[in-house]
Amino acid sequence: MSATDVITPSRLKPMPVSQPVELSPKPSLIGLTREEMGAALKEKGVADKQIKMRVAQLWNWIYVRGVSDFDAMANVSKDMREMLKTHFTIARPEIVEEQVSNDGTRKWLLRYPPRGAGRPVEVETVYIPEEGRGTLCISSQVGCSLTCSFCHTGTQRLVRNLTAEEILSQLLLARDRLGDFPDREAPQGTIMPAEGRKVSNIVMMGMGEPLYNFDSVKTALLIASDGDGLSLSKRRITLSTSGVVPEIYRTGEEIGVMLAISLHAVRDDLRDMLVPINKKYPLKELMDACRAYPGLSNARRITFEYVMLKGVNDSLEDAKGLIQLLKGVPAKINLIPFNPWPGTNYQCSDWEHIEKFADFINSAGYASPIRTPRGRDILAACGQLKSESERMRKTERLAFEAMMIANHGED
Ligand code: SAH
Ligand code: SF4
Repeated sequence: MSATDVITPSRLKPMPVSQPVELSPKPSLIGLTREEMGAALKEKGVADKQIKMRVAQLWNWIYVRGVSDFDAMANVSKDMREMLKTHFTIARPEIVEEQVSNDGTRKWLLRYPPRGAGRPVEVETVYIPEEGRGTLCISSQVGCSLTCSFCHTGTQRLVRNLTAEEILSQLLLARDRLGDFPDREAPQGTIMPAEGRKVSNIVMMGMGEPLYNFDSVKTALLIASDGDGLSLSKRRITLSTSGVVPEIYRTGEEIGVMLAISLHAVRDDLRDMLVPINKKYPLKELMDACRAYPGLSNARRITFEYVMLKGVNDSLEDAKGLIQLLKGVPAKINLIPFNPWPGTNYQCSDWEHIEKFADFINSAGYASPIRTPRGRDILAACGQLKSESERMRKTERLAFEAMMIANHGED
């Protein structure tokens, strides 16, 4: 296969083929809490005394076995399966395009059906295999309502929030395609051991500000980490935010996953320009929220993302300021080489300069890996997505995708 092969779903025979999206889709059972699933079943006439058992059965089939059609649910009676088929769906989103890089990075362009009067939306999900782990980069919104000046997503308007189902189905679909669910023939109760999984980590680092879609992100991540289902450890889930301070507290209390902060500047005047949400929640408030994040230790650190912008935030003064700012916070710093896009005035710092910056931070005792791009040949990007209304020209899109590659994977 050539490095930039585009694979249509039908060419991937050994893995389950995703189903086309229906025109007016039935409500999905994916992404519902147990209570919501129980209420949905009750509404369709399932007896009260059966609800708990039925929810447990469905939960197992959907999240442990990964089935995407009700007929595969061998221990559910035919009548019940017919009822489920009539009223609900557990289908995956449509795969518009799947690409595999020669370094193993995979990128899916997924299409979700319209919600209400809206249009279908498209989202990209990226899988990055690495030595001993595999990371899936997931999107939370179509577009973004924030306007970080170095980020291309910031130039696009927010189309809509993704639902919990749409967030979670990026993970289910990736596990389908990578063979991460047990075979149909495997005995009931078979769970893929954590060590053998292709998707061992997830990062909410695709398009959108996850903390502006808090409820859906919360529901999706709690289901992803549910011990009777997908069972991803919360230590292997990282949520990245530009700094929505009140929801950082809520993330710690209500979700409990690892946190990444898009910091990018250590002075309020500069951060106001680069990450304008800073005007609402300045550095002092942001750092207070970080310090208060529950469960921090040397083994559980906050990741601070820092994009390297030539002549803007990359001086040694900035490096000193960074060390000062992070004092007392268990932290690691991800230096991200800036990826330019058409129309931007920013440039990436020179490589030697980035290394000097990194050395300075390292010598102060902070791990500060420089993100090396993965999947360059397929321009694998975290979370670039193209709704019909926001479809970019191909050249523009490719440039943007190249921009986003820097930010994959967590330690
Ligand atoms: N909206 C959230 C999640 C997106 S994560 C957030 O901002 O944290 C995507 C990461 O890529 C963020 O750290 C973002 O600041 C960074 N990024 C955006 N544009 C970039 C660019 N042109 N080059 C490098 N990194 C960029
Ligand atoms: Fe939105 Fe994050 Fe881009 Fe800022 S960096 S515009 S918050 S996606």
